Amino acid sequence: MPSRPDGIIIAIDGPSGAGKSTIARLLAERLGYIQIDTGAMYRAAALLLSLATVDLEDLAAVEKFCKTLDIRLELDSGRQVVRGNGTDVTDLIRSPEMSLLTSQTSSLRPVREALLKAQQQMGSRGGVVLEGRDIGTVVFPDAEIKFYLSASVAERARRRCEELNSKGETVSFAETVVDVEKRDLQDTARDIAPLRQAEDALLIDSSRLSIDDVLNSMEALCRHKIDNMGVSP
Ligand code: C5P
Repeated sequence: MPSRPDGIIIAIDGPSGAGKSTIARLLAERLGYIQIDTGAMYRAAALLLSLATVDLEDLAAVEKFCKTLDIRLELDSGRQVVRGNGTDVTDLIRSPEMSLLTSQTSSLRPVREALLKAQQQMGSRGGVVLEGRDIGTVVFPDAEIKFYLSASVAERARRRCEELNSKGETVSFAETVVDVEKRDLQDTARDIAPLRQAEDALLIDSSRLSIDDVLNSMEALCRHKIDNMGVSP
């Protein structure tokens, strides 16, 4: 096991709507770790590509554009801010349209290569909770602890619907189920870094569990690992 100056690497992968972001944020808070929401980085890249009207079929153009990408995750008075090439894109990247576009652009090799490098740099010192689709399989296959967080399609769609409705966006449950299934398919069927459970990841099905239940058991496992690694959180 590698030893890292700031603590261990915690990888959380899983499909959309399984609760990864909430869990990753709270777990990072409890451990005094940094949360790295890699989905937000893919979303910011998709938004910037679309604003610059880059032709997604033209991989050379995508690659050229990706060289100019500067995506940062910052904390501003306790609020997570996503900055894409200098602009605060935190709210713009969360619409259902952006979710589907991101699922499309994240299958492009230049996009993955650019963000993979950035994520490895951000996490290499340890003391981080990274969440995404390929953290335990590709970004940090040597992460000290890996979770695969899942839930049924119906439950994930219900949660997503609730979240969007609470933000004032009117979406139906049926529409959301279709979106969730479409994203699952795009994320698991792509050639590069598809969503899958790493062999050494612990599977947690959160369909019938509360956030607190999931969080408490993950925290206990992480603390056990941290204690046994001889690094402090
Ligand atoms: O996690 P979130 O739903 O915000 O991710 C948005 C999209 O970004 C996913 O549907 C997936 O296509 C892509 N993604 C990825 N690899 C990651 C994280 C997210 O391909 N590590």
